[in-house]
Amino acid sequence: MSGGWAGHRGGYDDAEWHARRRRVLVRDGGMCQWPSAGIRCYSRASHVDHIVNRAAGGTDDETNLWSLCIRHHLVKTSREGNAARHRLREARPPERHPGLL
Ligand SMILES: [Zn+2]
Repeated sequence: MSGGWAGHRGGYDDAEWHARRRRVLVRDGGMCQWPSAGIRCYSRASHVDHIVNRAAGGTDDETNLWSLCIRHHLVKTSREGNAARHRLREARPPERHPGLL
């Protein structure tokens, strides 16, 4: 097993994903592309991530992929998790007050 997080890729062909991931890392010079106050992070990237999450309609095209360091990948993932929880909460119908039942 190679390192990293399996399970998020759904129907990807593994060989194709590995090749694509490598191309993106090479394109980005192996450095994190996270913009922090307008300046790239430039830490060594070890993750390739979707710029627009697939759940939000992002594609697997290389133009929608970027290299991230571990830290910024976690930052982005946790932001997306928070956003998903927020949407979930908004989607719930208001609860009726028990006294009104
Ligand atoms: Zn970074």
